[in-house]
Amino acid sequence: MSKNIIVLGETRDGQLRNVTFEAIAAGKTMAQGGEVIGVVIGDSVQSLAQELIYYGADRVLIVEDEKLAHYTSDGYAQALQAVIDQEQPEGIVMGHTALGKDLSPKIAAKLDAGLVSDATAVEEENGDIHFTRPVYSGKAFEKVAIQEGLLLATVRPNNIEPLQKDESRSGEVFSVSASISDLRTIIQDVVRKSAEGVDLSEAKVIIAGGRGVKSAEGFQPLKELADVLGGAVGASRGACDADYCDYSLQIGQTGKVVTPDLYIACGISGAIQHLAGMSNSKVIVAINKDPEADIFNVADYGIVGDLFDVVPMLTEEFKKVKA
Ligand code: FAD
Repeated sequence: MSKNIIVLGETRDGQLRNVTFEAIAAGKTMAQGGEVIGVVIGDSVQSLAQELIYYGADRVLIVEDEKLAHYTSDGYAQALQAVIDQEQPEGIVMGHTALGKDLSPKIAAKLDAGLVSDATAVEEENGDIHFTRPVYSGKAFEKVAIQEGLLLATVRPNNIEPLQKDESRSGEVFSVSASISDLRTIIQDVVRKSAEGVDLSEAKVIIAGGRGVKSAEGFQPLKELADVLGGAVGASRGACDADYCDYSLQIGQTGKVVTPDLYIACGISGAIQHLAGMSNSKVIVAINKDPEADIFNVADYGIVGDLFDVVPMLTEEFKKVKA
């Protein structure tokens, strides 16, 4: 019944991303009392191992190579394969991030395994592991169970509660050697489009602007509100198409899928393609001049008004609460 589950740690700027800890919590459920084995791949990543143990990993395996300093499909697939060959796990879980979306199908194909992608919940029911995942652009959810073979899953950031960090936990850390060769892609440099601010896909609070912000400068009040709330700024495709902001901020069917605790939509009409990326946010606040705007159909709180009046008012009020 119990299973050994590999959890792939994901790093950004030398730190583990939160989704790693959420994946460990998913891995614990999938393991059903078995071992959760954290894996960190990179160049000089040994120092991150302990953090995985504090969040619930029983043991950590490190694969280090200077060729793994940046993510490449080939490099990470070879590194993870070396771990899989050694551990023969019954399951593998990673974040449903750009990395996880690229790597997981490759691993599934290599292992001839099924893949449950974008899981928002993992539960044990009558001895089986059930994954909940969105279908039809988030309009419905399905529950699936893998009846046989490897349990391979990606988990959507911000949906599974990580375990409480416990610094008294201990576990062994081992190195795994992998021969990383024949890389078809060499990353020479990484140039960030948006170097600052909170990562949109993991943000707990998102202030999103649409065509209603009217210009690039129109995003400034949204940025100020995001700063006060410790959140990130996002956008509709309408705002991106109008060149008010970069496409890296786009939320929706062809942009990022986000599930923050609080999503404030400012001057966004609520097109179905936008809703596909944010309608599962925990609390949605919509600010729109048009009382008939579709965004109000998914909003928990609606404010009919001009965003250039409402957003600065909210910023001032939140500043008072925080003072
Ligand atoms: P609009 O629809 O123009 O809405 C602007 C809103 O702002 C209006 O409701 C208006 O009442 C309000 N407003 C104006 N001024 C103010 C003010 N001062 N104060 C308050 N409110 C104000 N869209 C996405 O967002 N993400 C996607 O991933 C995406 N993918 C797509 C994929 C495909 C294949 C297609 C066909 C479309 C996609 N779209 C996507 C586009 C989508 O259909 C909409 O065109 C887009 O979401 C509209 O953006 P918007 O709400 O900002 O603009």
